[in-house]
Amino acid sequence: MEFETVIGLEVHTQLMTQSKIFCGCSTTFGAPPNSHTCPVCLGMPGVLPVLNREVVSCAIKLGLATHCTINRSSRWARKNYFYPDLPKAYQISQYEAPICEHGYVEAELESGEVKRIRLTRIHMEEDAGKNIHGEGDDDHSYVDLNRAGVPLLEIVSEPDLRSAEEATAYLKRLRSIVRYLGISDGNMEEGSFRCDANVSIRPRGSATFGTRAEVKNLNSFRHVGHAIDYEVRRQARLLAQGQAVVQETRLWNPTEAKTFSMRSKEEAHDYRYFPDPDLLPLVVDEGWIERIRATLPELPAEKEQRFVRDYGLPAQDTGVLVASQALADYFEQVAGGVKEAKTAANWVLGDLLGVLNKLGTSVEESPVDAAALAALIRLIEEGTISGKIAKSVFEKMVATHQPAAEIVAAEGLVQVADPEQLRPILQQIFADNPTQLADYRAGKTKLMGFFVGQAMRVTGGKANPALVNDLLREMLGPVEE
Ligand SMILES: [Zn+2]
Repeated sequence: MEFETVIGLEVHTQLMTQSKIFCGCSTTFGAPPNSHTCPVCLGMPGVLPVLNREVVSCAIKLGLATHCTINRSSRWARKNYFYPDLPKAYQISQYEAPICEHGYVEAELESGEVKRIRLTRIHMEEDAGKNIHGEGDDDHSYVDLNRAGVPLLEIVSEPDLRSAEEATAYLKRLRSIVRYLGISDGNMEEGSFRCDANVSIRPRGSATFGTRAEVKNLNSFRHVGHAIDYEVRRQARLLAQGQAVVQETRLWNPTEAKTFSMRSKEEAHDYRYFPDPDLLPLVVDEGWIERIRATLPELPAEKEQRFVRDYGLPAQDTGVLVASQALADYFEQVAGGVKEAKTAANWVLGDLLGVLNKLGTSVEESPVDAAALAALIRLIEEGTISGKIAKSVFEKMVATHQPAAEIVAAEGLVQVADPEQLRPILQQIFADNPTQLADYRAGKTKLMGFFVGQAMRVTGGKANPALVNDLLREMLGPVEE
C-alpha cells in the first residue's frame, strides 16, 4: 500500500525581551543557576504576575508577518501539570483564545514550488526551568529556574506538510521571519527555536488522518528531517505488519538515529486548562496593531520578489540570499557596485558562502566585505582580469585581507587582452602542436578547446578567453568540409 505522510509542527521560539514575561527578572542566557529569579518566577504563594507589554508587541509582530488575524481580546490560561522545573505546577499559556489565528507561511521547495503552510494559531506562554541530571562527579539532579518565565511564542501549523523536506523548508522560513523581526535570535543549539513534530501516515487518497506520534524537542534542522523520515518508516512498517500506530510522545536519539517512546500522549483535558484568575483578558486596540504594522521590516518573501523584479535574478537564487537579512544586505551592496547583479549573486552564493562555510563563520564576520568583493568583480567586468584569475585573487583576499587591485598589481595578473601580444603566442602553440593543427584543419573542430586550453596554460590563465577564441578562429582559417 502506498502511504502519504502528514506532518504538523509546533514551534517554540524564545523572545529577546530584556525581562521575563510576568516579572522583571533578566532573560540573559548563561547566567549562574537561579541567579535570575524572584518570588514570581519561583512560584511562591501569594505573588501576582504582571504582563510584560513587549511580549505582546512581539506576538502581534509575528502575527502580522504571518498573515494572522490578531484577536482584539485574548485570554490567559493555566496549563496544569507537575514537574520539578515548574514550581507553580502550572504554566501560564493561552488556550481557548490565543492572540493570533489563521495565518500562513510560504516556503520554497527544492523543485521551486512555493508551498503555503497554514498556521492554526500563535500564542504567548512562559517557559519552564531546566532540570540538570548527573553533571559533574555526583549523581544528584538540580533545577535551574533562570529560564522559568522566559517568554515564548508557540506557533502551531495545520497538518499541511507532506515530507521532511517541506517541514525543513517551512522551519527555515519561519526562523528567517522571527530573525528579520528581531523578536528572537532563532538559535536552535541554545534552545531558543525548537520544534515538536506531529507525524502520521495514511493510505494515499484517504481523507482521514492516521494516528500520530509526537516527536518532541527537535533542536536542529537535520534532526527534524531525520526524525520525520524515521517515524514515517517506523509507522509504515507497523501498518504493513497489521499493527496499529500508538498515539504517544516520542524523543529523537541522534546517536542511535531513532525515535523512542517517552510517554503515552496526553490530551488537552489532561492538563485541565482553565482561565488564569490572576490575569485580566488581554485587550489589544487597533491603534497598537497599526503602530506595530508601520514598523514591520521588509520580510523575506517581499525581498525575494523585489530581487527578482529589480535585479532580474532567477527565483532559485533568491531563497538563499534572503535567508538572513545580513546576507541580503551584503548582496545588495555588492550588486550596487557592479554592472551585472547576476554576477554579484553568483559570487555571493558560490565563492563567498563557500568560504564562510569553510571558515565556519557568518557573513557579518566575512573576511572580504561587500565593497571589496564588488571591486574584484569590477576588475572582471572591466576586462582587467579573467574570471578564472579572479577566483584565485578572491582566495588571496580571504587569506590576506588585501584589496583585489593590490593583489593583481603585485602578482602581475593583469589580463592579456592585446591581440599583438597574443598572436605570437598562438603561432608558437601551432608550431608546437602540428598534429592537432592538421586534425583541426581536416575538420576536427572540437580541437578549438584544446588550443584555447593551451593559450590559457601558456599565459598562466591571463589571456582574455573571448579574444583568444576570436584570434584562433581567424588564424586557424576555414575548415575543410
Ligand atoms: Zn522573576
